[in-house]
This record gives sequence, C-alpha cells and structure tokens, in this order.
Amino acid sequence: MNYTRRTWLTAAGAVGFSAALTRCGGGDPLTPTTTDAASAPLADAARSRRTPPTVVSGTTGRVVIVGGGMAGLAAAKYLKVWGGSGVQVTLIERNPSYTSNILSNLVLTGQRTVSSLVYSYATVRQNYGVDIRQGTVVGIDSVNKRVTLADKSTLQYDRLIVAPGVVFDVLPGLESDAARSRVVHAWQAGPETTTLRSQLLAMPAGGTFVMTIPASPYRCPPGPYERACVVADWLKRNKPGSKVIVLDANPGIQAERHTFETAFTGLFKGVVEYFPNAAVKSIDTGPSRIVVDSQMGTFLGDVVNAIPPQRAGKIVLDNGLANSADGRWAGVKAATFESTAAAGVHVIGDSCSAGVPKAGHIGNQEGKTAADAILRAFGGLAPDTDVVVNSACYSPITASTASWLTALYQYDASTGSYKMVGTTPSEATSPTSDNYSDMNKWFSTLMTETFA
Ligand SMILES: Cc1cc2nc3c(=O)[nH]c(=O)nc-3n(C[C@H](O)[C@H](O)[C@H](O)COP(=O)(O)OP(=O)(O)OC[C@H]3O[C@@H](n4cnc5c(N)ncnc54)[C@H](O)[C@@H]3O)c2cc1C
Repeated sequence: MNYTRRTWLTAAGAVGFSAALTRCGGGDPLTPTTTDAASAPLADAARSRRTPPTVVSGTTGRVVIVGGGMAGLAAAKYLKVWGGSGVQVTLIERNPSYTSNILSNLVLTGQRTVSSLVYSYATVRQNYGVDIRQGTVVGIDSVNKRVTLADKSTLQYDRLIVAPGVVFDVLPGLESDAARSRVVHAWQAGPETTTLRSQLLAMPAGGTFVMTIPASPYRCPPGPYERACVVADWLKRNKPGSKVIVLDANPGIQAERHTFETAFTGLFKGVVEYFPNAAVKSIDTGPSRIVVDSQMGTFLGDVVNAIPPQRAGKIVLDNGLANSADGRWAGVKAATFESTAAAGVHVIGDSCSAGVPKAGHIGNQEGKTAADAILRAFGGLAPDTDVVVNSACYSPITASTASWLTALYQYDASTGSYKMVGTTPSEATSPTSDNYSDMNKWFSTLMTETFA
C-alpha cells in the first residue's frame, strides 16, 4: 500500500480547522502575546500539517496498545487507516467506554452531564478493524515482546504503544477512603466529577470553595484556572457572597496567564483569591469545615477540591519505563515516542515526557506520530524527524464565553525534544461568546476524529 501526502490533521478527510486545536496549551509558565484575531490558532493549525514521505507497500506487523484514551485510540485508528489490513492492531482498555475529561469542568456548573461525555469504542472497532478488548495490562516483557493481562493471558507484539494516562498521588491527610470521598480531585472525569457538582450544590451561599493546584507538570495546564473561573461564575449567580480560594503550588499561572489574571482581578474580583507558591502541606477533613494547610497559610473550606500531583500510569511505573529525572514520567525519543528505557515500546499521551503539554488534542497528535513511526519501522524506513505538533486551547470563562491559546512545537534533533516555535504562545485578548461556540465545535470534531 502506498500513502502519500498524508497530513496529521487531514488524514481520512477527518478534520479541519477546529480539530487542529486543543483546549490545553502551554506547559511552562507562560508570558503570552495577546492577539485579537482567531486567525492565530488557524495559522498554527495549518503550520502543523506536514507531508511525510511515501511508505512501503504491503506493510505488516502486530501492534498492541495499552489504554484507549485520547492518545491510545488515535494511534490505533491511524495505524489501521494508514497501515491497512496487514497491520494487526489490538487495543486493551480496562473500561467498557471512555469518559472525556475535556469539558468536564462544565459538569460542575450543570451545563454538561457526565453521560454526555461518554464515548463508545464500537465505531473504531467496526470501521477500522481495531481489535479492542476490555482488560487491564499488568506486565510488559519488552525482551520477549509480550504483555500480560490481569486475567493472566498474554499477547505478543512487534511494537507496543503504552498510553495509560496518569495516576494521582495521595495528599497528606487524604489517606483514608472516607477522607478521599469528602475531598475529591475530579481530575479524572467520572463519579468524582458528579460528587464535586453535588458538593457545590450543597454549599451554603457565602461559603468558601478551596481548590489546590499541584506543581507542574500536570494534566491540562490551563484546566485548574478554567475550573476556578467557571465555578466562580456559577457561585456568583447561584450562591451569592461565596468565594473561590485558589492555592497554586506553582510560582504563577501556568497557561493563559493574561486571560486568567484578567478574569481573577476583573470579572471575578472579590470572588476569586489566587495564591501562588501555596503547595498543600496537609488537609484535615475534620468534623466541620475542611482545613487546608498550605505554604501560604491555613484556609477553611466548605468544599475543597484538591488536585494532587500526578505521574505516569501504573503500567509505566511498574515496568521500568518511568525514567525521567524525577522518576515520574516515561522518557521518550520525541520524534517517534519510543521509550528511552525499552526498545520497541512507545509511550504517548500524559504518561510521557517529551517537552509538550499533557493534553488531549496533542495526545491525539502523539498517537498519530507514534503510528507513523511504527509503520515506517515495519517498512524498513527511517523515522521522520520533521515533526511539528500544535497545541491550542479553548477555556470557558463564564457560562457563555471562552478564551483560547495556541502554540506550535517543532521536534529539535539537537536536543531530542520538542521546542516551542517562537518564544510565546498566542492568546485571545478577551473571552467571547464566539469563542465559546468555536469551543463546542472543536470538541465535537476532536472527539469524532478520535472515536469515529
Ligand atoms: C478537567 C479537565 C479538563 C481538560 N480539558 C482539556 C482540554 O480542554 N483540552 C485538552 O486537550 N485536554 C484537556 N484535558 C486533558 C486530557 O483529558 C488529557 O490530557 C488526555 O485525556 C490524556 O490522554 P491519554 O490518552 O494520555 O490518557 P487518558 O485519556 O486518560 O486515557 C488513558 C486510558 O488508559 C486506560 N488504562 C490505563 N491503564 C491501563 C491498563 N493498565 N490497562 C488497560 N487500560 C489502561 C484508562 O482506562 C484510560 O481509558 C483536561 C483534563 C481535565 C482533568
């Protein structure tokens, strides 16, 4: 099979401008350039497209994928779209369906339900011939190229893709199940998201919502600030006199700084109080109000939403793949996402450390990049090193307005990592209702691109 003039974001005619954006941008503290026109995300999306060379006919090989999230499922789909029938793709996912984290902050305000964020694996199974099985992978033997599942069955592979997302540390004071049911993170959409919504509904008017943000890197750099905004907006209308206290372990806002600083000090003045350098020391769920002890002092909350530090998925940690300097993330060769700890194993999505943000849309592009590298390897071709990926972000600020951020990342062979193109991402000057409407279109296109 030949495939030529393939592009990351237009493959199979699946996507246009909207899907070339991701709502999570940044990854480092940002000093963005603001711009009026929505042409900046559009321009970045177009520049992230590229033309890999022709790939060998009759490519064959077996790929096993661990995790059917934003990154893993994109890899599975595009291995089949580009690789054809000679490439066998088996994806092991522990859950029967996928619940999107993206837009899950809007469940807290009642604008979305968790069930509206659930996606089925049926279409990718039926339309592309991906063998999607429910199960949990518990072991990787990269020498014998074999994975073991919890039911003790094994699967052989020629190449393995590992895309398990993140696991969460337990914050001091939240060791017991009872404490963790009172203080949820809701940073994995699902039952905790519903719990946090119920807690907000039960909060008294004039109450205090305390949220904590872990040190970077964490999943979705602008996500916590977005949550602070939409919760503040909802509280203003539904629980007058309430406050949102944001305790950030970082020295400053990690993404869309202009947008969130402006919102915290303008629209939500008197509602949001933001404290940088405020890492959590401990949380006491006590009998009455919850006490958060932080590096910036002690705070009392009627509702506390503590987002813990994160690390790569358990399967990465347990199998010697978490070889970043801090031992939390999988080191990868960024052009191919092949592990620097185990040959033939590619780690994509939030679990890897490649110099790009941990976010869903860029995870989709990482899946495509890994798929391309594997198909080239099966065909005896060298990896493509001219890789450009785009990260952009729409952030809801109120119930009807949103902002955006966009950045391009180019693979840099001299460092073996991705480097942002230019010095700063671009950012919208102000939240608008047009951006809100684009956000919904983008989300729908991205999820279609991944799950259909
Ligand atoms: C509130 C919130 C808002 C967000 N908003 C955005 C946004 O607007 N834009 C954006 O781009 N990103 C956003 N994100 C981030 C985005 O959700 C993640 O970056 C993205 O889901 C990461 O994709 P992934 O494939 O690495 O992991 P996931 O999507 O988490 O998928 C991992 C999958 O692996 C499975 N799995 C794990 N271990 C195993 C195993 N051993 N065996 C079998 N299966 C396994 C899991 O069940 C899961 O289905 C947001 C996140 C949050 C929390």
